Amino acid sequence: MLAIGVNGYGTIGKRVADAINAQPDMRIVGVTKTSPDHGASLAVDRGFPLYTPADRVDAFESNDIPISGTIDDLLAASDLVVDATPGGVGEQYLERYHEHDVPFILQGAEPDSAVETSFSAIANFDAAIGAKSARVVSCNTTGLSRTISLLDDAFGLTGARVSLIRRGGDPDQADRGPINDVLPDPVTVPSHHGPDLATVLPDITVHTMAYKVPTTLMHTHAVNLTFDTTPTPNEIRSVLDPERRITLLPADQGIRGIASIAEIGRDSGRPRGDIWETCIWDESIAVEGEDVFFTQAIHQESIVVPENIDAIRAMMKTASASESIERTDEHLGVGQWPGTDSAERVLSTANK
Ligand code: NAD
Repeated sequence: MLAIGVNGYGTIGKRVADAINAQPDMRIVGVTKTSPDHGASLAVDRGFPLYTPADRVDAFESNDIPISGTIDDLLAASDLVVDATPGGVGEQYLERYHEHDVPFILQGAEPDSAVETSFSAIANFDAAIGAKSARVVSCNTTGLSRTISLLDDAFGLTGARVSLIRRGGDPDQADRGPINDVLPDPVTVPSHHGPDLATVLPDITVHTMAYKVPTTLMHTHAVNLTFDTTPTPNEIRSVLDPERRITLLPADQGIRGIASIAEIGRDSGRPRGDIWETCIWDESIAVEGEDVFFTQAIHQESIVVPENIDAIRAMMKTASASESIERTDEHLGVGQWPGTDSAERVLSTANK
C-alpha cells in the first residue's frame, strides 16, 4: 500500500486525494492547507490528516482545526507527494522534495524542466516508469494528447491545428474573467498548448491558438488534423470509441453544449459532477478532402485526476500502463457514460 501525501488541497488536490483513497493500492497519509478555511474543514471531515507550514500551525489551532504536523512531517511520512499548489508555487518546493528524497508529481503550470518527464497516461506512461519526478500536463494538453496520440498511432499524423476556447476561470475563482468579452489569450501564435504537447509527444507539431470566454464549465477545442492516409469518419470512431478516457457524445442525446455535459456529470451522480473523459461530439467528426475535423470538450477541474493516479503507479513501478489505466478507471468510474455500453469498452494500446 503506497502512502501518498498531497501538497495543496484545492481544485485539483482535493479531487486527487479522493481518487487516491478510491484505489486499492494507495492511501492518503495527509494533505496540506495554508489557511484554516472551509477547504481545511472539508479535509478533516473526509478524515484526511492535515499538515501546514510550521508558521501556520497556530492559525489552525486557534480555529480548532486539528493539525497532524508540518509539511516537512508529511514529506517524511510519504512514499510520494502529489504537488497541487497554485502555478509557480510547486517549483518553490523542489528543494524540499529533493532534501526529503521523496518522489514528486507537479501539475501543468510548473515548467517541464523541473522534472524528469512530463506525463499523460495514454501518450507516454512508460517515460515515467521509475522516475523520481514527473509533471502531469495541463487539462488542455491532457485532452489533446489522448486523441492526437491515438490517431497518430493509427493513421500517421502529418499536420495538426487546434483552436482552444478556454473557460475564463474555475467556478470558485471570483476574480477571474472575462465576464463580457472574448480574449485572444495569448494574442500571439502559437499559444503555449502546442509546445506543451511536445513535452509528451515530442515527434508531433500542433499549431494552437487560444481564446478565453465567459464560462467556468469546460474548455472546447476545434481540432483539424491531417494524416498519411486519410481515414473515414467511421475509422476515426473505431480508434477513439474503445477508449474509456474518450467519450463520443451520441448524436441522439441532445447534448448541444458544455452545459449539457456538465449536467450529465451531476445527474449521473459522479463526485462533484466530474467529467474525466475527453468528450467528442460524435456528429462533429468529419472528413473534407484530406482534412479531419472534430470538436471536443475538456472538464478542466477533473481530466487530470486519473492521470495523477497513473503517474504514481508508473513512478513507483507498481503496474504497467494498461494495468494502471484499467485499475484507475475501474475504481473512479471513468468511461461509464449514460447511453453507452461501458461494459463492452476495451482498453486499446495504452503504451507506445
Ligand atoms: P487551487 O488554487 O484551486 O489550489 C491550490 C491549493 O494550494 C489551495 O488550497 C491553496 O491554498 C494551496 N496553497 C497555496 N499556497 C501554498 C503553499 N505555499 N503550500 C501549500 N499549499 C499552498 O489551484 P488548482 O486549480 O488546484 O491548480 C493547482 C495546479 O494544478 C496548478 O499547477 C494548475 O495549473 C494545475 N491545473 C489546474 C487545473 C484547473 O483547471 N484548476 C487544471 C489542470 C491543472
